[in-house]
Amino acid sequence: MNRRAFLALLGGLAAGAAVGVWPRPASASTPASPSASPPAPGGDGVPAELPAIPILMFHRIDENPHSPEGISSEQLTRVLEYAWEQGYYPVNMSDIFLGRVDEIVPRGRMPLGITVDDAHRSVIFSRKTTIHADQRNERSFIEIFGDSTARHNLPPRATLFLSAVVARHTGPDGGYFGGQMSLAGVLDALSVMPGVEAAYHTRRHPRMRAMGFKQTRAVMEDQMEQFCALGVLDRIARILAYPYGARPDDQGVQALRELGFLGGVLAFPGVREGRYDEVPLCYYDGRLLNDPFLVPRVGIGALTYAFGAITAGERFREIDPVEDFRKDAQSIPRTYRSRGPAAPVETS
Ligand SMILES: [Zn+2]
Repeated sequence: MNRRAFLALLGGLAAGAAVGVWPRPASASTPASPSASPPAPGGDGVPAELPAIPILMFHRIDENPHSPEGISSEQLTRVLEYAWEQGYYPVNMSDIFLGRVDEIVPRGRMPLGITVDDAHRSVIFSRKTTIHADQRNERSFIEIFGDSTARHNLPPRATLFLSAVVARHTGPDGGYFGGQMSLAGVLDALSVMPGVEAAYHTRRHPRMRAMGFKQTRAVMEDQMEQFCALGVLDRIARILAYPYGARPDDQGVQALRELGFLGGVLAFPGVREGRYDEVPLCYYDGRLLNDPFLVPRVGIGALTYAFGAITAGERFREIDPVEDFRKDAQSIPRTYRSRGPAAPVETS
């Protein structure tokens, strides 16, 4: 599928404006011309030389290499090792929204946003499985992420977007509020990594693109009331990963603003589904330059299944997320380099 066809499909899913205004850097192979005053960011015409932070989106750990949204523990380890070896440094979404990237990331290092949607059980908890009579321990996303960052002396910083009901994503393990996985247990598990924050993905994971003000507000209030009843409202960052990655309409965004949200993040497939010079990016220059309710992320793993935009044949072909990310990273015109402190920040 070419980019145009994909965008047409995506356009049917996302609000048309979301696709139309995503920052579109010039080809990495095109020599960048100096720009005295960058135009207003977040729209067409954002120059290639504007600094950017790539934000990765993961979904779940799945040892099955053909899993629609999964990434194997071995693949995740390789993606992270590649990123750290390239000089990337993990940040969470609050770091970006609150303009504190330079406080977190040592000078000269390149921030990399790490996010996980839906938060399948495999993201938080390891589990024992028996394969061919062998007992083995399947490590969770945050365990692998924690080990990898520790090996490289990096603080584990990431944003996990929580959803209570993600029908076809979570399977028999249930959502965050059901089964063996209580929200309190999730937050306790996360509390050992203060830089790994929890944020919103809505309780019931509806498509929000045509909901308008009232319905969007009702959906978000439903989630906020639930967090409040569980006594965790203050522990959840007020940032939304739109279900299916598709933003609400302008009225919906207004509802989010009135509820005190900092912003919302979109989902786009990895570049393997498109051209390598059109990676959607988060522009940052000491502060977020995008529309805070239209912050793009790049999917890692076989994300496009969620968009229904690839055929079954494509879905089940072998995917190498490391190669995806390598191509993403190479196509980024100019990565933001921190102006922060010279020494790594110690995490408490
Ligand atoms: Zn989702």
